[in-house]
Amino acid sequence: MLITISKLVQNLAPATVRHSRCIASLSSLPDTYQMLYKTCRDFAEGELKPNAAKYDREHLYPCEAIKKMGELGLMSIATPEELGGAGLDYLAYAIALEEISRGCASAGVIMSVNNSLYLGPLLGWGTEKQKKEFVTPFCTGDIVGCFALSEPGNGSDAGAASTVAKIQGDKWVLNGTKCWITNGYESRASVVFATTDKSLKHKGISAFIVPKPTKGLELGKKEDKLGIRGSSTCSLIFEDCEIPKENILGEPGFGFKIAMMTLDAGRIGIASQALGIAQASLDVAIEYASKRMAFGKPIMKLQAIQTKLANMALQLESARLLTWRAAYLKDHKQPYTKEAAMAKLAASEAATFLSHQCIQILGGMGYVSDMPAERHYRDARITEIYEGTSEIQRLVIAGQLIKEYGLN
Ligand SMILES: Cc1cc2nc3c(=O)[nH]c(=O)nc-3n(C[C@H](O)[C@H](O)[C@H](O)COP(=O)(O)OP(=O)(O)OC[C@H]3O[C@@H](n4cnc5c(N)ncnc54)[C@H](O)[C@@H]3O)c2cc1C
Repeated sequence: MLITISKLVQNLAPATVRHSRCIASLSSLPDTYQMLYKTCRDFAEGELKPNAAKYDREHLYPCEAIKKMGELGLMSIATPEELGGAGLDYLAYAIALEEISRGCASAGVIMSVNNSLYLGPLLGWGTEKQKKEFVTPFCTGDIVGCFALSEPGNGSDAGAASTVAKIQGDKWVLNGTKCWITNGYESRASVVFATTDKSLKHKGISAFIVPKPTKGLELGKKEDKLGIRGSSTCSLIFEDCEIPKENILGEPGFGFKIAMMTLDAGRIGIASQALGIAQASLDVAIEYASKRMAFGKPIMKLQAIQTKLANMALQLESARLLTWRAAYLKDHKQPYTKEAAMAKLAASEAATFLSHQCIQILGGMGYVSDMPAERHYRDARITEIYEGTSEIQRLVIAGQLIKEYGLN
């Protein structure tokens, strides 16, 4: 039987957890995390893994699964209980998101966007009224939110936003196009970044909460993607879109900072999604290698295959340690920008590497959709692109190193 996350929270004794926590392995973590892992593992095995190929093939949003994830508390893991969330922390989020993504990477990204990119900034900068309206209803899995930063003309260079917001009486009026927005189709609200004072460049960007539907907000076509095809990606097109004046999130001009801080946390989520894809690839590779016979023995007995499996496990487990470290630092209110970028970089490159090697181990069977290996390979690729490409993660890491050495 699946245990809801709120039941887990009842078992959580925060002081004990803080003192006894060792993040080197799951078995050394307090029971709460192990029970959470098992709950997510059972759910992923029972509900996601059997359907993931169908979601992918038919570009199907896993609506029922997301609702059930909401019931389990997974759509709002780090949101305080008094706002309707599970009241756990980012380490719990990382563990849960990896297991969900191990079952289905599309469900993983939908969960990640709702938790980190949508609820995250609202929890950090929302007023009590905004939280009541835009956090609590989004904790249950019945409805999801999205995060709209990227534009056709700027992705990595997020400070060059050309979407504008102008104050007119008691309304903000938004004009412009946001692209590549995950959950764009299903979302019932979006955190949107728009320029309120162009002369200030990135310091003139502000964040807004835009409910959906809202007059003046249209959706572009659903993108036909290489992977994570069960999640929707589309443009949000704003044409004289009016929202109430109080729907600004945080102070005017604080939007870029909100976006960057949100992405720091989001990268722990994407790292966890990537770990799930990598782990699923290793699972498939080991199972196949133990059964496939060549030259009179299972290919697992061949040292060439063993070397591949060892390299795969090494990259996966190194990336997991980096990811849990970033989550641990965030949970302990320590700086974690560099660590989150390292986690995302290592885990996404591990997902690409492991899914590539998995196909190689499966040979011809890795190349056809009868086996999940090719889907893992396609799903892995996006983790090196969204929430900052690998090139941008390296820039973030280098920037932090320069600061650490006092050379800025
Ligand atoms: C499936 C999917 C879902 C997404 N979901 C969302 C979402 O929910 N919300 C959202 O706001 N955005 C989302 N994105 C957008 C995503 O974050 C951007 O695609 C990503 O940040 C890269 O931006 P870009 O595509 O404009 O590439 P560009 O910025 O044009 O980059 C092109 C290439 O140039 C490199 N490059 C750029 N600048 C530098 C530099 N300074 N140094 C070195 N190399 C550089 C990049 O690394 C990349 O290799 C999504 C994208 C996809 C594909």
